[in-house]
Amino acid sequence: MAYVITEPCVDVKDASCVDVCPVDCIYEADRQYYINVDECINCAACEPVCPVAAIFALEAVPPDQASFIEFAKEQG
Ligand code: SF4
Repeated sequence: MAYVITEPCVDVKDASCVDVCPVDCIYEADRQYYINVDECINCAACEPVCPVAAIFALEAVPPDQASFIEFAKEQG
């Protein structure tokens, strides 16, 4: 289980989530931030602080955003 950062983050990269994550599992990619799926402890702290509502619990990721789950997994 993990939280997932989706399309609204692309080219925005506000990074408010990075500041609140207690385990520092949010990393920077070229055009967005992503959450390491193995390190995330599912605390939900990041979700409400995202100014563009890009962060979802894995089971709540909108179907059209599914590619962002794969993106996060691919980052390793
Ligand atoms: Fe970090 Fe918690 Fe968000 Fe996971 S749910 S990325 S542990 S702030």
